Amino acid sequence: MNDRTSAERWLAAIVESSDDAILGMTLTGIITSWNAAATRIFGYESQEAIGQSVSLLAWPGEEERINLFLGILCHGGRVDHSEVSRKHKNGKKILVSLSLSPIVDSSGIIIGISKIARDITALEDSKLRLNLLTQQQANARAEILAERRYRELIENAPDAILQVNPAGAIVIANCTAETMFGYTRDELMGLGVDLLVPKANRAAHPSHRQAFAKAGVTRPMGLELDLFAQRKDGSKFPVEISLSPMKMENGVHVTAVIRDVTDRKLTEQRVRSLQESYMTELEARHKEAERLNQLKSEFMASISHELRTPLHTIIGFAELLAEQSDGELNFKQQRFLHHIQVDSEHLLGLINDVLDLSRIEAGGLHLHTEPLRLIKIIGESINAIRPYAESKSVAITMGDDLDFAVIADPMRLRQILYNLLSNGAKFTQPGGEVNVSAVVEEDKVRITVSDTGLGIAPEECTRIFDKFYQVGFTPVGVREGTGLGLAICKQLVEMQKGTIWAESVLGKGSKFHFTLPHNQL
Ligand code: ADP
Repeated sequence: MNDRTSAERWLAAIVESSDDAILGMTLTGIITSWNAAATRIFGYESQEAIGQSVSLLAWPGEEERINLFLGILCHGGRVDHSEVSRKHKNGKKILVSLSLSPIVDSSGIIIGISKIARDITALEDSKLRLNLLTQQQANARAEILAERRYRELIENAPDAILQVNPAGAIVIANCTAETMFGYTRDELMGLGVDLLVPKANRAAHPSHRQAFAKAGVTRPMGLELDLFAQRKDGSKFPVEISLSPMKMENGVHVTAVIRDVTDRKLTEQRVRSLQESYMTELEARHKEAERLNQLKSEFMASISHELRTPLHTIIGFAELLAEQSDGELNFKQQRFLHHIQVDSEHLLGLINDVLDLSRIEAGGLHLHTEPLRLIKIIGESINAIRPYAESKSVAITMGDDLDFAVIADPMRLRQILYNLLSNGAKFTQPGGEVNVSAVVEEDKVRITVSDTGLGIAPEECTRIFDKFYQVGFTPVGVREGTGLGLAICKQLVEMQKGTIWAESVLGKGSKFHFTLPHNQL
């Protein structure tokens, strides 16, 4: 020390009095000097530290970093205010802010390293504490905000929300509860919830409450029941209530969400009464329509009857005239007479069809069904149509096996067959054929009248059974008939527990099938 210059002593005093640890190191990291602050910060006395590697102070995992710093300094670099962890002699972690710089001799060669370390452990701790405090404050603020939002939500909910303690007293009520029940918040607090139940049901309410608290399951109250609540002024209103239990130290609290459904009930009632009046109106109209239909059928039946009498007179006298027993008719008279006969026959056919249909629709047509030999009725029907078919050069043929028994009304079965056969002949060109066949299918006999005529478009095959529906013209271009024949056939077949349908290929011919109950022979 004695050979030190006063400048060196001055410098050493400054180093010793510094608050920061000031160390000298070789380029390989061996500590060469150690001041008093270094002892304070790292816990080692100077004689313990000098001659040791600086890694003595390394916090586990930081050794690599020390080597990195040494490398930087060997190459003339510096490290400024780097915050690193270091180990105190007592094993505790300390945080230091490190500045390293190379020590250069007068010829500019790096001969060592100076290290200044400031203990910032306390600083970091207070920073952390501050952070924690700020975080806690932020959390508290967020909690207050969430709580406020939650409150607002509850206060402004469209439903009344009440919480009731195990004794049945209200402990929480929202703003909607005040307006819904007409009590102030103060009045509601502590009020027995049973007072909100109409008088008639009030006595039973405590036991319902207790049963609910015992079951402890969230559920709607009074499912499928019309519930009512009572206001402070005694007036009642319909409600829907949902209950949920909440277990607390002193027992089960129940939260009730109560919805005033007055408007909805009113709307429902209005819809119901509208529906009822609509149904009554509909029923009345239906009855009126039925009555009018009946009247129409009766009118048609009576007018047809009235028309037939004079028509028979016309036809009868026309036939007499045609016999020419009272003198020969000239050609013109014969032509006129022919027109009278054809048109009055057509008119008679039309009137008969209208009469039949009216009677069927008015329920005035009664059938007399009995077991019949099908072949006999088919034979009779073919005989009736044969003159017409022959006049058109259309052959009528029969299937091989027709000897089945059916249950039917003979007259009406003849009418059906005659209709189908005459249609077949009517819509078939000369040289064509109409055939009748039959087959047993389970408990039915299916009878088929097929022809080789014009055919019907598939989409028309159902509509032809409608009243007055006619598809087209006969092969000779005349719209013969009334459009009622198939409608009558359909009614007659169905009245005899059968069904009728058509299948056809345009230009190739048609098949009309109908079924009748089979009677085992
Ligand atoms: P119509 O008195 O006009 O024959 P129908 O009710 O018996 O009345 O028949 C309705 C329509 O169905 C006929 O006008 C005709 O267009 C069609 N139709 C019926 N039978 C046949 C058939 N065998 N071939 C082709 N078309 C037919």
